Amino acid sequence: MYIYIGKQQIEEIHLGEGVLYPGFIDTHSHCSIYSNLLDKVYCAPSCGNIPSILQKLKEKADNTPEGEWVIGYSYDDTGIPEARHLNKHDLNAVSTRHPVLVSHISSHMGYANDLALQKFSFDARTKIPGGEVVVDSQGQTTGFLLETAYFKCLSYLPAATPEQQKENLKKAVYEYNKNGFTTIQDGGLGFGTDARLITQSYIQLYKENRLNARMYLQYVPEAFEKLLPYGLWNFGNDYITFGGLKYFTDGSIQGFTGALSQDYHSRPGYKGNLLYPQEEIDAMIEKYHCMNVQIAVHTNGDAASEAVISAFEKALKKNPRTDLRHMLVHAQMVSDSQLERMKACGIIPTFFVKHVEVWGDRHAKIFLGPERMSRLDPCGSAAKIGLPFALHVDTPVLPVTALESMHTAVNRTSSSGIVYGENQRISIKQALEAYTVNAALCCAGEKNRGRLKPGYYADFVLLDKDLEEIPSADIKNAQVLKTICGGNIVYEKN
Ligand SMILES: [Zn+2]
Repeated sequence: MYIYIGKQQIEEIHLGEGVLYPGFIDTHSHCSIYSNLLDKVYCAPSCGNIPSILQKLKEKADNTPEGEWVIGYSYDDTGIPEARHLNKHDLNAVSTRHPVLVSHISSHMGYANDLALQKFSFDARTKIPGGEVVVDSQGQTTGFLLETAYFKCLSYLPAATPEQQKENLKKAVYEYNKNGFTTIQDGGLGFGTDARLITQSYIQLYKENRLNARMYLQYVPEAFEKLLPYGLWNFGNDYITFGGLKYFTDGSIQGFTGALSQDYHSRPGYKGNLLYPQEEIDAMIEKYHCMNVQIAVHTNGDAASEAVISAFEKALKKNPRTDLRHMLVHAQMVSDSQLERMKACGIIPTFFVKHVEVWGDRHAKIFLGPERMSRLDPCGSAAKIGLPFALHVDTPVLPVTALESMHTAVNRTSSSGIVYGENQRISIKQALEAYTVNAALCCAGEKNRGRLKPGYYADFVLLDKDLEEIPSADIKNAQVLKTICGGNIVYEKN
């Protein structure tokens, strides 16, 4: 491979065996949140049952000085054999000399041991508006913390120093490089992170020539308002772009907080709720759309998607631009007619299609029922109407991966082997486009990334297999051999 600047050849790199693709482009994850979890305990169902998860936490406690925090994340009650939440007794057994806090995979709830409850000053009488310190039938705290009660306790956790933050981000970016990514959208600075510290840390890494991916930053409204007076959106350099706004309109389907148009499968009479009234969503979308700011909106349920699509339709009447690359992030339940309307508005969906594999069986049984499950993350419908779409896994919700996400989009097989929605399958070529050319649209980068083309960034991933030549069941087994960003090898498999 030759690297050129203009017409001048400046470098020749021998890549060895493999198949070269454009560097993968992430369209939605939380690199900064993830960076601060790397030294914490991963508690997802892939770790096994409750005893094995507690054992992992205990090993961490045994290697942590007394009194310091032991933190776990991604615990998923409906995904483990016991199918229950953790409680303070489980976590007291991990340690009584360390405060222990474990977050639920939805990021909307968590579990604390007695020492952690003491640190938060939570007891059985604590009342927190918009949340709950859950008590049992005897009136005792259980250690289970919901919504604002859980969010509040996050502020008690030790914050990273600027130096630690920078090094954490460096390590997190490497995890993306390992999986072939050369562009990362950090979706929502200010959501669970210090937006200023994270921005400064990315900039510092860039100045030290140690930023090994191109960062595309989106900010939650409170943080974005601070950038507004300086015109800092859709602006940056080759490695850091201030993208636009990240906005939430509902929660998560598997947390029963997604806003649906019909009842949840196992909860008749309950549809979940929008986080804001329609008028507020309309005002928000209109305000930023009319300032020509890209808006990436989190919607999971179809009612949330409807609220946002209709808000964009209204905003477009005031400012008829369809080139701002607005995004619906997740958009898991959008109907064909909603997809058509998104196309007319220039809205690009990025689907969290790995839901089909990881939560598909539970969506069919518990949350949505088989019919709605079979068209979850409707990549096939989007492809059919010619609406460009991207894919993501929302790290840290799921570990960083592009290949496994493409695998699910092509096969639509759940972890138990059930195929949900054969007609929503897409080809591997379309799945690759979702991580390259289409993903480039989401960061207004279609003129400089996402293709193997002269004049484009020298961002590549070398795989050990030609994805279009192997059986679809093998896609997830393909290996990243090398990742190259800006002509530099940033990951190389041993
Ligand atoms: Zn997210």
